[in-house]
Amino acid sequence: MNNRSTSHDPLNGERTDLIIIGAGIIGLAHAFEAQRNGYSVRIIERDMRPNGASIRNFGHCCITAQDGLYLDTAYRSREGWLSAAKAVGFWAPEAGAVVVARSATELAVLEQLSEQRGADSVQLLTAREVRSRLSPEADPAICGGAFLPADLRVDPRTAAPDIADWLQNQRGVQIHWGTTVKDIRTGTVDTSRGEFHADKVLVCVGHDLDDLFPEVAARYQVQRCALQMAMAPAPTGYALDSAVLTGTSMTRYDGFTTMPGADAVRQEIFGHSPELIDMGANVMFTRRPDGTLLLGDSHVYGQTIGPFQDEWITTRLVSEIGKILGTRLNVTQRWQGIYASSPQTSLVVEDLDSTTTAISVTSGIGMTLSFGIAAETIGQL
Ligand SMILES: Cc1cc2nc3c(=O)[nH]c(=O)nc-3n(C[C@H](O)[C@H](O)[C@H](O)COP(=O)(O)OP(=O)(O)OC[C@H]3O[C@@H](n4cnc5c(N)ncnc54)[C@H](O)[C@@H]3O)c2cc1C
Repeated sequence: MNNRSTSHDPLNGERTDLIIIGAGIIGLAHAFEAQRNGYSVRIIERDMRPNGASIRNFGHCCITAQDGLYLDTAYRSREGWLSAAKAVGFWAPEAGAVVVARSATELAVLEQLSEQRGADSVQLLTAREVRSRLSPEADPAICGGAFLPADLRVDPRTAAPDIADWLQNQRGVQIHWGTTVKDIRTGTVDTSRGEFHADKVLVCVGHDLDDLFPEVAARYQVQRCALQMAMAPAPTGYALDSAVLTGTSMTRYDGFTTMPGADAVRQEIFGHSPELIDMGANVMFTRRPDGTLLLGDSHVYGQTIGPFQDEWITTRLVSEIGKILGTRLNVTQRWQGIYASSPQTSLVVEDLDSTTTAISVTSGIGMTLSFGIAAETIGQL
């Protein structure tokens, strides 16, 4: 598609170069890349503001712990996030991530990753160095860790809304909030507020892919994954912007799970805390710029997600993080997040007809990959 628009102010009903369905981070990253490449863009979003997975997560761009092709996409995404943060002006410190090891088995995985990636990408830390970042009261079981300098942080409550605000003030971009897409036929998008037309349509609806394209969702066995999350004020004196990962994280991210020692970590955690493995825990936390901590998480999978959250799961996650920090955390908010998941792939990119492409990240790494995927898609137009 080479016919970039010369008229940069699309009006209601006017044809645009692109229609993007969904104003989560995947849709917004695509809109950002498209706008800066001179395309006119119409974003159509069912809600009145970003309200899906993209505002409910940790705001951790988990670059280093990706593997294979996704590692390249993650590094490309990192550049995109930094460009967007500069243009839009949102908080995106290059704060990295700290991985806490509380056993020799966990430390072995970090040593293996450091050997594979190099000591600059995975910087091994002593127990004292980890404790100095967390707290003097931090868990006495901490025996070391690693610092992953390439990882990025954003505030999930504000990053996507800030990008949307900025985009709707740019020439050639229009966002239609409160507008549900019902059908898409080669360049014609039928919505609850009428029809729109474009040369290219990108469907970025996350886990709701099965609403619009059930056969594609079924082919990739796309399900919903629900996570329990909580927020608490950070302990006095805690000022770390880095994401903090733990042994359970080593059972979930491909960068860790492909290490020879990863199975031993899973078995060890199952031995002393089987409930953490059973709930699919990734015990991790991040600090927002307002000083609150985002705490999580657990994973449960299904086509339809029930509304009832088991209190013991959140209590267990929060107590584990309290133990790591050596303090009691007082929860002020709890919520459920849902993202798309597929046992076959972490990313579905599917051409649906000559003008329509569906793009759903089917793993808990959509923030990490968003701008990398967008650069790839828009570069190929
Ligand atoms: C609790 C939690 C923690 C996570 N932590 C991380 C993390 O630290 N790092 C990381 O990289 N990833 C993380 N993730 C994953 C990441 O948040 C998601 O992969 C990413 O946000 C998906 O973005 P999206 O734009 O596809 O989806 P969404 O943000 O859900 O956006 C999809 C949008 O499409 C709209 N939509 C759907 N159907 C229609 C329709 N028919 N018409 C119009 N609009 C429609 C929806 O209203 C929604 O706004 C986490 C996810 C959760 C839930």
